[in-house]
Amino acid sequence: MPTATDLLQEITEPAAEQQGVRLLLWRDDLAHPELPGNKARKLKFNLAAARRQGHHKLLTFGGAYSNHVAAVATAGRLFGFNTIGLIRGEPTAVPNPTLAQAAADGMALHYLDRTAYRRRAEPDFIAEQLARFGAAYVLPEGGTNALALPGCAELVTELQAQTAFDAVAVAVGTGGTLAGLLTGLAGEQQAVGVAALKNGSFLRAEIDTLTQQAQDRIFTNYSVQTDYHFGGYAKYSAPLLAFIQQFGVRHGVLLDPIYTGKLLFGVLDLIKQGYFRRGSTVVAIHTGGLQAWAGWHERFGRAG
Ligand SMILES: *Cc1c(COP(=O)(O)O)cnc(C)c1O
Repeated sequence: MPTATDLLQEITEPAAEQQGVRLLLWRDDLAHPELPGNKARKLKFNLAAARRQGHHKLLTFGGAYSNHVAAVATAGRLFGFNTIGLIRGEPTAVPNPTLAQAAADGMALHYLDRTAYRRRAEPDFIAEQLARFGAAYVLPEGGTNALALPGCAELVTELQAQTAFDAVAVAVGTGGTLAGLLTGLAGEQQAVGVAALKNGSFLRAEIDTLTQQAQDRIFTNYSVQTDYHFGGYAKYSAPLLAFIQQFGVRHGVLLDPIYTGKLLFGVLDLIKQGYFRRGSTVVAIHTGGLQAWAGWHERFGRAG
């Protein structure tokens, strides 16, 4: 496994140099050979709780290309849990690469139509699912709950041990990862979230609710940027794909088209706009998600 030092990569960009900002990339996508990135971070303390509570089975929810579903399936194989994935939508004749891998990891896949899926967080609905599938530790969609936060805070601890920095930046889906990073930051350090979905102004309230649940605290040292969604969650965007392609050539780093591509585009744009003061060090977090490329190519073709 790579050591923490290997995970920090200098990103040299003219825009950052002009603004006097040092940009680093924390390669959490390389943190573990099979279970990298923020979905693994969010699982860590949940799996410990599952074990403590005597569970042998994990039950979770997700879309058909979900990084979280993929991570739960892999974690089940690595750590000896049975796993059940309740997937939004209809089964397809041939499962997509995410679900094929989840099944290969031993996950039992079941499908929920959109009406049923909408109820995924309702206690009554969850009780029905447990009656159907047997006792299990339930992980919500995206793996975001109060126990997801301390695992993400550990990333900040590892980062603090490597370098001084002024801000971290991360892509936001549910906000669980950003909330967890906030709980790990010290003193004057700031966080910036880049929303991967459209109309992301609700995310701040979600993040505040999470930090309140986990630590009875609301943080003010962060922003959520809502203008870098490129059309919405998992939407095809030629300009975004062109950026990801260029970034790969310039820095030898593969970003994903749903989260980290938007993050790096957003961070570089914010740097250009003078969002970060001169002399500051900004650490963008590569949260992984690269398994999504296989399904992406299947949907949109190689040009995608
Ligand atoms: C899920 C995910 C995110 C967003 O994490 P949240 O905790 O839901 O905000 C960011 N990056 C990647 C690669 C992800 O898979």
